[in-house]
Amino acid sequence: DIGLSAAGDVSVLERPQLVAPAPDAHKYSRGMVAVVGGAMAGAALLAAEAAMHGGAGYVALLGGKSPGGPHALVRRRCDAETLSDERIGAVVIGCGLGRDETARERLSLALAADQPIVIDGDALTLIAENGMVQVAEMSSPRILTPHAGEFDRLFGTSDASKIERTVTAARQSGAVVVHKGADTVIAAPDGRVRVARPGSPWLSTAGTGDVLAGVIGARLAASDDTFAAACEGVWLHGEAASLSGPAFIADALAPRLGAAIARCL
Ligand code: AMP
Ligand code: MG
Repeated sequence: DIGLSAAGDVSVLERPQLVAPAPDAHKYSRGMVAVVGGAMAGAALLAAEAAMHGGAGYVALLGGKSPGGPHALVRRRCDAETLSDERIGAVVIGCGLGRDETARERLSLALAADQPIVIDGDALTLIAENGMVQVAEMSSPRILTPHAGEFDRLFGTSDASKIERTVTAARQSGAVVVHKGADTVIAAPDGRVRVARPGSPWLSTAGTGDVLAGVIGARLAASDDTFAAACEGVWLHGEAASLSGPAFIADALAPRLGAAIARCL
């Protein structure tokens, strides 16, 4: 029993159909992503670069410390005002955020801004400590991207299947849950489930999760369909890995997203 009974609509994650920017596109119409920076500057930078290569028209790094990265990356401070910019299509938080007082403050501001949001890494660990209430009460679309450890901290452990546990987590949180690993499961609060085909095991390297959060952010900023955005991001991330040689590093993964997108047009 792989847990199919728990969900209404379970299938294998297939290659998505995407559209190129319209002839009259401008950078904001393609989607603006705000990546919240933190203690480990490199991780937020990876997410920001992945959002850029994932097709976002405008990516802002909020509160990021490192001066490196693409010249096209915009930098802003991280406060209630920048987080509530109405042009933002998706906030990405948690990649290298850390768990100090600044991290807690930024997470609290980001959740309060109630923008469409991708929540990863340290933000998930902080939410596990504080409780899911604030996430469950948001009205905006939200996508959680836990690996196995983060998932267990958030939702507890059980003997149920990965599919069942992910569906339950999505129902509880009102979020699309991307339960990562070699067998990534994506569940929506309404019971829809997609299971990714086994991807490149070379993905098991530091920073690939940050790239995933960034590309999902780009898709979320471009779309009104939260579940589709999560599915598209996971597919593009897996495809970028397949298009990479052995022993690629996370930094090399983001620039392959364009080739992955080309397969969907
Ligand atoms: P994180 O654990 O946050 O660094 O994220 C790691 C990323 O790599 C996620 O997208 C995982 O699904 C993916 N990943 C990790 N290990 C494997 C594996 N053995 N096979 C395929 N994908 C993996
Ligand atoms: Mg991670």
